[in-house]
Amino acid sequence: MRRPFIAANWKMNKNIGEAKAFVREFLRHYEKSGVETAICAPFLQLQALQEALSGSGVKLGAQNLYHEDKGAFTGEISGPMLKELGVDYCIIGHSERRTLLGEDDELINRKLKAAFRNGILPILCVGESLAEREEGREYVVVSGQLRKDLYEIPAEQAVQITVAYEPLWAIGTGRTATPDQAQDMCAYIRSALAELYDWKTASEMCIQYGGSVKPGNIGEIMDMPDIDGALVGGAGLDPLSLIEIINF
Ligand code: PEP
Repeated sequence: MRRPFIAANWKMNKNIGEAKAFVREFLRHYEKSGVETAICAPFLQLQALQEALSGSGVKLGAQNLYHEDKGAFTGEISGPMLKELGVDYCIIGHSERRTLLGEDDELINRKLKAAFRNGILPILCVGESLAEREEGREYVVVSGQLRKDLYEIPAEQAVQITVAYEPLWAIGTGRTATPDQAQDMCAYIRSALAELYDWKTASEMCIQYGGSVKPGNIGEIMDMPDIDGALVGGAGLDPLSLIEIINF
């Protein structure tokens, strides 16, 4: 049985004071439930968040990691460093990193392996651009990302990956995929995972939808059979809105 999983992606928002204030307000309303909840914060806010969230059951997430564990990689942050801070999850392959920072599938594959090497659970983002969808290439694009990103990752690890389907045209645009569009692609992702692994593995994997999720649309998204949760950007910056999303 897959557990619902809501993760907030703060991106490059909130200083330490704002992060602590968010958690104070959030925990005033948060009740532990069957919904796995994580906050993926900028690196510099992780330590304060780890302390503020301690004992709450809310998981700590990072938004990136380097694919090597240590060495001469100026400016990078490694898996062991994140693990030391108590990081549970790490977003890998977010479209903003793919497009703005040129991360390709081979690098994303190495980052997934680095996460597992360090006991950090990946949230792997995949999704097509508007042009790719308009050209009818969305399935080819997403299945290609999955095949390359998951190269040589065994089923025992794959089953622990959360795949976040984030169509680029729905991220931060206020334009949400319809629940049917999101379900259609998430079901396709599950069948692609079954082809890469097997049906048992695919049916146990958590698939999130991400793209302008908010309190007003989370219910219909979570009603979809192949959508197990959401990766939430903008709406996850406000504690009460995140609470409403978790209580879908
Ligand atoms: C995201 O960037 O992961 C995201 C889903 O953003 P938003 O919810 O703001 O569209």
